[in-house]
Amino acid sequence: MERQDVEAKYKWHTEDIFSSDEAWEGAYSEAEASIDFKRFEGTLGTAEGVHAFFTAQEDAGKRLEKLYLYAHMKHDEDARISKYTAMQARAMALYVRFSSESAFAEPELSALDEDVLRSYLQDVRLQDYDYFLRTLLKNKKHILSAAEEKLLASGGEIYGQFQNIFSMIDNADLKFGEIDDGKGNKLELTHGTYGVILHGTDRALRKRAFEQYYAGYIGLKNTIAATYYGNVRKDVFLSQARGYDSCLQRALEGEDVAECVYSNLLSAVHESLPTMHRYIALRKKLLGLPEQHMYDIYAPLVADAELKMPYEEACKLVAEGLSPLGDEYCALLRKGFSEGWVDVCETTGKRSGAYSTGVFGLHPFVLLNYQQTTHDIFTIAHEMGHSLHTYYSNATQPYAKADYRIFVAEVASTVNEVLLLRYLLAHTEQTGMKKYLYNYFLDMIRTTLHRQTMFAEFEYIAHDKAEKGEPLTSENLCEVYLGLNKQYYGDAIVHDEQIAYEWSRIPHFYTSFYVYKYSTGIVSAISIADRILREGESAVKDYKNFLRSGGSDGPVELLKIAGVDLTKKDAFEAAMHAFEEALRQLEKLTA
Ligand SMILES: [Zn+2]
Repeated sequence: MERQDVEAKYKWHTEDIFSSDEAWEGAYSEAEASIDFKRFEGTLGTAEGVHAFFTAQEDAGKRLEKLYLYAHMKHDEDARISKYTAMQARAMALYVRFSSESAFAEPELSALDEDVLRSYLQDVRLQDYDYFLRTLLKNKKHILSAAEEKLLASGGEIYGQFQNIFSMIDNADLKFGEIDDGKGNKLELTHGTYGVILHGTDRALRKRAFEQYYAGYIGLKNTIAATYYGNVRKDVFLSQARGYDSCLQRALEGEDVAECVYSNLLSAVHESLPTMHRYIALRKKLLGLPEQHMYDIYAPLVADAELKMPYEEACKLVAEGLSPLGDEYCALLRKGFSEGWVDVCETTGKRSGAYSTGVFGLHPFVLLNYQQTTHDIFTIAHEMGHSLHTYYSNATQPYAKADYRIFVAEVASTVNEVLLLRYLLAHTEQTGMKKYLYNYFLDMIRTTLHRQTMFAEFEYIAHDKAEKGEPLTSENLCEVYLGLNKQYYGDAIVHDEQIAYEWSRIPHFYTSFYVYKYSTGIVSAISIADRILREGESAVKDYKNFLRSGGSDGPVELLKIAGVDLTKKDAFEAAMHAFEEALRQLEKLTA
């Protein structure tokens, strides 16, 4: 389908951002003229100076965000239109100029005396920046002298090179060759086709693809190990230079997350591993395999049970499923569906997948490629969860505190998925659908909770070794990874020798200590959703206050508003219990 053939009611209203491309051009020229921050350098020693700088920065920031939003949404509508590719690149370039011109501010503020910073915290003109200033004060002990900071900053481009090298290997130079698709056709094996094959039903093809794909990485094992070691050494260098006890401490303090959250996650997941082993054993039984291999782990376990319904009905179903969140939330959902927030249909040239996006002062937007699958209905619930989080936060917080962190972002989307799942389970008698839904949930937990925690544990061990002066090699990284794989997946699966090399193909490992946030996100979401279903109104009230809190405090503090305290071990219990219960149900249904 071409975009021009889509009915207007299925398209998002980009005109709510700019009425036309001409209007965008006008705003671009104004924004370009508003970027002049060098004049503020050296003026942040007084509250007046800081206030003037923040005001100018906010003004330019708002303009740039709108420019970029419009250009990237237009580009995503149809990537073939080069005009929008160019507009997106121009908006991006302006943004880079904005960031580099205002980059002086944080070091300049950090270098001020503590007393001066504390006086800023008391200044009414700067009250929107209280969390920013508190964080600055907290991290001040890790700021070095001006000369040292300058030297460290001059290495900025080098620190990112390890990620760059891996990306070049992984996306440009590494070729996996062609593979026979089993029907006599030759297929190029890429990251994309590998994923499709592993999720498919042709087992012999899965095995061939697995072996051929890993052969690519194994052929470069020493290069990739050296690249990863460089990345870890970079983390060790930066954390030691700034006086942190460990790389983990530096990463978590940067996110305003206590270290016990990380260790609580690891120990809670370890305690739940017997349940994971039972799930892997059930997979083996349901797939009817005498031997289950690592290339079987994504194979479909139960037949897809498709609800198959037009978009309008899916929206109605989502709103019903989310009705425990109350009338106000559902009215906002319906407003979003009917007032041009969502771009629904798959059309030629449109960006694939789904996302929610938005800027301050405007309603959020959602991109979908709706195909009438059950999965797509969950996607509506997921993306609208992000959108309403944005909506509530923007409506409550000032610009400076409206943006929420990744740590809390996936909570709002996953709460909606869990609520919809519970609703569908309560409203179906069909065994096929029930099996599909329980398995959907279990797979979500396996891939988002356990797999990401296993990655988090791997990163932790790798950094710990490097901090103790032990070099990282392909051999010792494989030994660690294989050990974890055995621990996490248990005896019902063959730990093929290739899987020891899985660490060498994970791009996220070049953004250290990032993936654990997926795990804490799903843990928090499950416990919030189940509390809402159990307690009703009081839990909904707390949850909506959490959505309203945006980025006004540290993420662990904000989650406490919704009743989840990740600094305590019992916060993880609800999620692990839900995991065990879903498994018990699937075992019963398939007995
Ligand atoms: Zn999401």
